[in-house]
Amino acid sequence: MKEIPYKIYLDEKELPKKWYNLRADMKNKPAPLLNPATMKPMTENELEAVFCKELVKQELDDTTAYFDIPDEIVEFYKMYRPSPLIRAYCLEKKLGTPAHIYYKFEGNNTSGSHKLNSAIAQAYYAKKQGLKGVTTETGAGQWGTALSMATAYLGLDCKVYMVKVSYEQKPFRREVMRTYGASVTPSPSMNTNVGRKILEKHPGTSGSLGCAISEAVEDATTHEGYRYVLGSVLNQVLLHQSIIGLEAKTALDKYGVKPDIIIGCAGGGSNLGGLISPFMGQKLRGEADYRFIAVEPASCPSFTRGKFAYDFCDTGMVCPLAKMYTLGSNFIPSANHAGGLRYHGMSSTLSQLYHDGLMEAVSVEQTSVFEAAEYFARTEGILPAPESSHAIRVAIDQALKCKETGENKVILFGLTGTGYFDMVAYEKFHDGQMQDYIPTDADLQQGFDGIPAQPEF
Ligand SMILES: *Cc1c(COP(=O)(O)O)cnc(C)c1O
Repeated sequence: MKEIPYKIYLDEKELPKKWYNLRADMKNKPAPLLNPATMKPMTENELEAVFCKELVKQELDDTTAYFDIPDEIVEFYKMYRPSPLIRAYCLEKKLGTPAHIYYKFEGNNTSGSHKLNSAIAQAYYAKKQGLKGVTTETGAGQWGTALSMATAYLGLDCKVYMVKVSYEQKPFRREVMRTYGASVTPSPSMNTNVGRKILEKHPGTSGSLGCAISEAVEDATTHEGYRYVLGSVLNQVLLHQSIIGLEAKTALDKYGVKPDIIIGCAGGGSNLGGLISPFMGQKLRGEADYRFIAVEPASCPSFTRGKFAYDFCDTGMVCPLAKMYTLGSNFIPSANHAGGLRYHGMSSTLSQLYHDGLMEAVSVEQTSVFEAAEYFARTEGILPAPESSHAIRVAIDQALKCKETGENKVILFGLTGTGYFDMVAYEKFHDGQMQDYIPTDADLQQGFDGIPAQPEF
């Protein structure tokens, strides 16, 4: 067997030329998006009022297994891809585990996360359609940054609604976006009807992702030449993110390595969906078996404690409804939650796979996530994003289990990004001010009460 290097780099020529659409191999397809006004499946036409044409096609296509990646996008990818697959020799040694640990590192670009993989694709299709620009929301700021990089590259306008609490806590994120030419508005704002309504009802609100989404959608649909784009949750985003898994699989195949356990953090599900895609495809086709583990915060536990139901994707209820594991569209995680991954719902593709027992999910508390983050930084050198550190936590736990049992399992996890802009959260952790908060059943019930009556069909 070939000796495995610390970093497995692929050649530029080995960059995947096609994205893989996991839905093509699913027996039970994810449920269709519904129109909130009629509760009927959204048609292509209806979706095109909000989203870019080509992206709507990708969103609705449950049968085409591979989509060509346009040359212009491949060129952009070449600036920061293929991303390295790293064998965590140092971590293995420090843990004293017989397990072999690998991670796919997506933090090697200025936006600091995997989000750029879909941002460039979405901006490209907007440009191709002849649009002036795009609108979006951002929470922690990685998606807004990624999108502003992509729109700057292609010469498109970019309007970002940033959740007010992040806007105030992360001024440097905001300035990075402005460096790339985006306009950044704290949400809720007075720019939109939905923002004004929310401000009237809750004057001091620090905002939420669901609310910022409503504002961005309204802005796009009331301005000629604009469409709304979203950085997670949607099928099209999982499709673009399949590049993570395709590269990881190519790199592992080169050395004849087959992972036993594949782990990823889950906010809306895009990095996890992308990482597991080709492996899950094999499992669905009966060619190979893997364990897949989604990791979510205990304070925003959509998979582990949510309901599998049609729900609104935003607070203003202007977006299509999706069938997914959800905590209810008015669920807002506790204010002391610092680690990202705060969206109330989950990708409908991953929700279906989880519902069918094809993957597992666990939730972890934030102090244990930051302990893992710090341990990882001190061992492997990379300062991880809090979101990514959820996956690190569970990878370490699994490796320690192997130490007990003496099994030399192969663990692969997604290291989605770097944490340079999350130093306020790290500071809280270091000062002993970070607390764990697990919502009670009564807390969750408030969110569930907002889930609409389920359509019958
Ligand atoms: C956005 C983000 C996530 C979570 O989003 P998913 O769609 O669940 O992947 C995880 N890690 C980082 C660094 C992010 O920026």
